[in-house]
Order: sequence, then structure tokens, then C-alpha cells
Amino acid sequence: MSKSIFEHSSPGCKGVGLPPRDTDIPLDKIIPQKYHRQSAARLPEVSKLDVMRHYIELSHKNHFIEKGLYPLGSCTMKYNPKIHEVLARHSCFTNLHPYQPESTMQGALELLYELQEDLAEISGMAAVTLQPSAGAQGEFTGIKIIEAYHKAKGNTHKTKIIIPDSAHGTNPATCHLVGYDVVELKSDAQGRCDIAHLKELVDENTAGFMLTNPNTLGLFETHIEEIAEIMHSVDALIYMDGANMNALLGIVQPGKIGFDIIHYNVHKTLSTPHGGGGPGAGPVGVVEKLLPFLPVPMISKDADGYHLDYSHEKTSIGKVHTFYGNFAVLLRAYIYVKMLGAEGLRRVSENAIINANYLMAILKDYYHIQHLEHCMHEFVADGTRQKKANGVSTLDIAKRILDKGFHAPTVYFPLIIPEAMMIEPTETESLASLDAFATAMIEIAQEAKENPDLLHGAPYTTPVRRVDDVRAVKQLDPIFKIEE
Ligand SMILES: *Cc1c(COP(=O)(O)O)cnc(C)c1O
Repeated sequence: MSKSIFEHSSPGCKGVGLPPRDTDIPLDKIIPQKYHRQSAARLPEVSKLDVMRHYIELSHKNHFIEKGLYPLGSCTMKYNPKIHEVLARHSCFTNLHPYQPESTMQGALELLYELQEDLAEISGMAAVTLQPSAGAQGEFTGIKIIEAYHKAKGNTHKTKIIIPDSAHGTNPATCHLVGYDVVELKSDAQGRCDIAHLKELVDENTAGFMLTNPNTLGLFETHIEEIAEIMHSVDALIYMDGANMNALLGIVQPGKIGFDIIHYNVHKTLSTPHGGGGPGAGPVGVVEKLLPFLPVPMISKDADGYHLDYSHEKTSIGKVHTFYGNFAVLLRAYIYVKMLGAEGLRRVSENAIINANYLMAILKDYYHIQHLEHCMHEFVADGTRQKKANGVSTLDIAKRILDKGFHAPTVYFPLIIPEAMMIEPTETESLASLDAFATAMIEIAQEAKENPDLLHGAPYTTPVRRVDDVRAVKQLDPIFKIEE
């Protein structure tokens, strides 16, 4: 166990010195007596170097992409170029004020305008709003747009949205938030939308359909044009959850194959550091007929330059974020897209797909894989073989991976695969690091056979062993109280 900062304390040790008071005004005149401290503050007495070492040591107890492979399926934990951080902190950007006159922030507006255009091109949509601050908020924006579209058309009978059983939990949550009923669509034996079931579910009351493509099994939804036809025949709209866009950059434009709305998770696909809960961005793209409903302002361009454009304010769903979205996050996405260009973005997805298929081809001999065909940027293996033969669960396997220096995959999701382990290596991993991860997984499969108890007890190398997840969620005050 590491020492706490108080255990590093040594009396009289100082990290900073305060300047002497530069006024004769008695303290009582500045701070009323009743607020004065009665005893010394309980602060650790440490040097600067002690503090640095303490926090560096703590930071290493965490797992992060610079420390090791982070195969968290659907979350796309890739390497984020450090130039983003340098530029995002540049005073040209950090000193901007959102209420500055338009004429004095032309550069920032140009940047947002070009990102709108680039994201529209990548997704094949007519226009993109940059406002939403995460994928889930992009979904909310998109479903509000579906609601506004039906309202404008007088489609008052539209009450439900269809969502596949492999979907991320935010999809149904979003629909409920907007006030729609959610109807669950079954997956077929190939792990795709069950078209026969879809036909049964669709009727005049259907407002829309939400689909993740590639879906959370890492499989491309092959029937998308047929699905679009079915949905559009009852004037329902199709929303694409774009969390898995890392598989499609420069390869598929969702707007060209039938989708009406899409969100990006720029913190996944377009390389903003994430994992600590934000900030992120969830730009939303729409087809031409949905333009009037996008949040305001958009950024527009004319002969005089770039403008905050409120021209469709009357039909818009309104604002979904203060000012213009998470500017510093969008800035990182802009740099990423410009640095890679069209060719580079395509290579990102191609390599993400190749890396996932490489791992799957090795691991299929050691772990059960339900849908054994070429995957996109991720695949779902599972621990059912180990569970049945050795009583070792996916949780045991995931915990053991930590001991081997890797982050665990996404586990027990998607819900339709028992003991699921969703593995997404991303394009930024080298052959050597993919091999190292595969070797660790193979060793664990071996350990499961020979010494299941070893896995039940894992992890052994982390500062906290197994935490009580349920208690951690329900009891929000710290479980580990610092001793006085
Ligand atoms: C991550 C994710 C979301 C939610 O996105 P956030 O940016 O975390 O709000 C939605 N759907 C899928 C498939 C995801 O992987």
C-alpha cells in the first residue's frame, strides 16, 4: 500500500513560502473574528518533490493508454496525439470569451465551421451541429429532432421507437427521456437485426429506429438499406448511434445508406482523452429535411466571414449546450481530422479492423466466440467455455488481465452474449502489443484449466483488490475512510 500524503509529512517541511503581509490593517478588519481558525489547519508538511512523487506514484496506480493497451470495447481507447493538448491550451484559444464580438473570433468560428463541414462529409450528412457534449446528449438531440420532425408534420400518432436488444443502455434511456415508448427488436442468428421481427414491430405509430453500426457485437449491419425502406415507408426516421464510427471512417458514409441522423463520439473516434467522465463532444449530423430542427446557433459562412447563425431559431429544437459546445474538445477533433486527412482517416479504420481481426483469429482457439466471422473494429469473445469447464467467470478473467498489465475489455456487454468480453484493440496498437495481449489471454485460459482458484482471487497486483461494486454505487460516501 502507498503511504498517504500525511504519512510523508515531516514537521517544518515546506513546499512553498508565503510572502509577508503587505498591509497594516489588522486581520480582524479584513476577516471577522468569528471566522478565524481556532487551531492550526491539519495540512501535511511536505516538500515540492515529496508532493510530486506522491502524485506521480498515485497516478501510476491507475491504468491509462500511455501505460498499456486498453481494449475497452465500444469505448475506443486509442492513443491521443499530444499535440492536441499543446494546441488546446494555447492562449489564442483559452483567452477567447464566448460573448466576444463575432468579428474578433473569426479564427475560432472558421475552425468550428470547417469541423461542421468535415464531419458532415465523413458521415455523408447534410449538416452537423457541434453542440452536444457527449454521445448520450447527441442521442437526446437526435431524438428531440425526430420528435420535432413528427410534430411539424402533424404525425401525432407516433409514440414508439424500435431499438435492437444489442443496444447500449443510453439508447432506450434517451427515448424514455424524450417521452417515447421503447420496443425491443431481437437479433437474428447472425447477430444482426432480425428483419422478420422488425416487420412485425413496425407500424404507423413508429416514430423511429435507433441502430448502432457496426453493432455492439462488432458486426456490420448488412440489411441497412432494407431497414431504411421499411422505416421510411411509415415515415419513421433512422438514427445511427455512431459510437463505433472508428470502423467506418472513409469507408462508409451512413447518410448515404439510409440513416437520417447520426451522432459522433469525438472522444472515442476523433481522439480526445476520455475515461475520466469527460469532457467530450457528441456532434449530430442530419439529412437535408431535418436541417430546420438542428440546435442554434450553427456556424455559417458568407462573403463577410463566419457567423453565429440563428436563422432557423423558430423551427429549431433550441440549444442543448451553453454557447457553442465543448470548444476545446472540438478543437482536438479538428486537429485530428486535419492532420490525418481523408486518406489517413480511412487508414485509421482499416487498421482498427485489421487489429481486431488479428486478435480474434488468435483468441478463437482459446475462448468461445459466438459470431465467428470477420469482425469490424471489435469482437465479442466470451467466458462460457471456462465457466462450464472450470467454474471461472468472465469477471475472474477480467480481473486477472489487470495483473498482467492490461486494462480489461468491456465485460457482460452486450447483454445478449453470456459472459461477454468485448475486445477493441484500436488502430494505435503495434503488432508487438497485440501479441503481448494475446499471450496474456492465452496464459489466463491455461490458468483457468490448471488453477481456477488463482483466477477467483485475482487481481493481486492492484492497490485495491475486488471492490464491492453494488456497495460502491449505492453508498456514495467513501468506503475507505481516512483515519484521523
Ligand atoms: C459510448 C457509447 C454511447 C454513449 O456515449 P457517451 O459519449 O459516453 O455519452 C452510446 N452508445 C454506444 C454504442 C457507446 O459505445
